[in-house]
Amino acid sequence: MSTGKVKKRAVIDKSHCVACGCCVKACPLGALSVRFGVYAHVEYDRCVGCGKCAKECPASVIEIKEEE
Ligand code: SF4
Ligand code: SF4
Repeated sequence: MSTGKVKKRAVIDKSHCVACGCCVKACPLGALSVRFGVYAHVEYDRCVGCGKCAKECPASVIEIKEEE
C-alpha cells in the first residue's frame, strides 16, 4: 500500500535568482523570503507547491517539483 501522497514544492535556482522579490509577494502562504538581498529562499514547511511564485518569477528560476 502507498504510504503517502506526493508533495509538491517550489525549488529555486539560487544562482540565477535576481532577488526581485516578485515571488515573495506572490506566495499566499508567506513561504518565500529574499535572503541577504541576493536570492529567494523557500520555507519548505509552509510551501504547498501551488506554483504561484513560479508564474510570477521574471527570471523563470522557480520550478515546482514533486517529492514522495
Ligand atoms: S509554490 Fe506556492 S506556496 Fe510554495 S513558495 Fe510558491 S507560491 Fe508559495
Ligand atoms: S521572483 Fe524569481 S528572480 Fe525574483 S526573487 Fe523570486 S525567485 Fe528570485
